[in-house]
Amino acid sequence: MSFQKKSIKDLSKSQLSDQKVLVRVDFNVPLSEGQISDDTRIKAALPTINYLLENNASVILCSHMGRPKGERVEKLSLKPVAERLTEKLKMNVSLLDDCVGESVFSKVSQMKRGEVVLLENLRFHKEETANHPYFSKQLANLADIFVQDAFGVVHRAHASTSGVCEFLPSYAGFLIQKELEFLGGAIAEPKRPLIAIIGGSKISSKIGVLRHLLGLVDTLIIGGAMTYTLLKAQGSETGSSMVEDEFKDEAMAFLKEAETSTTTVLLPLDHVCATEFSVDSQIDVFDTEAFPNDRMGLDVGPKTIDAINEALEGAGTVIWNGPLGVFELAPFSKGTFAVAETLSKSSAITIIGGGDSAAAISKVGLSDTMSHISTGGGASLEFLEGKVLPGIDVLEDNKVPVND
Ligand code: AMP
Repeated sequence: MSFQKKSIKDLSKSQLSDQKVLVRVDFNVPLSEGQISDDTRIKAALPTINYLLENNASVILCSHMGRPKGERVEKLSLKPVAERLTEKLKMNVSLLDDCVGESVFSKVSQMKRGEVVLLENLRFHKEETANHPYFSKQLANLADIFVQDAFGVVHRAHASTSGVCEFLPSYAGFLIQKELEFLGGAIAEPKRPLIAIIGGSKISSKIGVLRHLLGLVDTLIIGGAMTYTLLKAQGSETGSSMVEDEFKDEAMAFLKEAETSTTTVLLPLDHVCATEFSVDSQIDVFDTEAFPNDRMGLDVGPKTIDAINEALEGAGTVIWNGPLGVFELAPFSKGTFAVAETLSKSSAITIIGGGDSAAAISKVGLSDTMSHISTGGGASLEFLEGKVLPGIDVLEDNKVPVND
């Protein structure tokens, strides 16, 4: 089922043929000494690019790289990306010397069907993140159609995510379409039971998600450091665990709401505790009721892992965002890795919200076993929070849900 927004698949060959298509991609790849150390994001953009080429369009790619803050920073040039694309597409992909301006306009005007160019880093201009209408219009003037395929930035209203769509018919690329199908489908028409696992360090960044999921999901499993603000609000001892005291009231309000909600909320029953934030510290497991005042909780304990595994049995859909402990350090990684292991064997639709949970799954080599790993940690979180994503909102609507 594809719904809500039109994708490039909704355009016929004649609508694409000889058209200039501006595609916003996420080529913000990691660089090490000027070399690309991971080209996953480049590979992920190829299906959309190839589809447009097969349909006789000319393709103008645009992306940001790093945070040049509106200045031209040579080490943040997209030159290495253009070279890698040339290899991957087996055709010349030239990098233009800017993303807007006379010279860019003139080069793009001469493009023929089947050609690809890459514009230079959008964020060399401060107007990109400022969503300046004149800058958006200059980008739009390069093309006939706009395609959004950079999920990692659609929660931001920038010129290349939102502004440009005011001037061009705008469609989702294949990456965005996949994100909408999985994330949107999980919320709108989930295969139940629908279970969310939310972890991570700060309740301040996830309290909106927790509240939004109440009533939507059947079970809400909470782990990570943010548990300790909830437990402290409940009156439990949390020792020296990470607590955001200024969020205790919000935490309490969430717990009150949870009491009358249809959602079952599962908080950790026990904790892997250390005397200090170090692998060399004294490490023991304590139940929530027996939490000592001189320890910090750095992972969920074995009873909690059992309870989570039980809750995940027979799940229809699982959404996971945020690690259950300090998975970067071996003694505090068991909870997070146990969930990854359980999900890898589950028949449920498994949706990973990017960021640290995706990194944890990749660390144990289980990425291929998940149904979907989101390419945008921040965007997927805001999606789960029920927020409107500005870069999605502006794409053409699919009036009636369409069965594929
Ligand atoms: P976030 O960016 O909010 O998703 O948080 C991810 C970070 O939370 C990871 O780097 C984890 O190491 C950290 N984390 C998870 N559980 C704990 C904990 N109990 N105490 C401290 N940090 C934690």
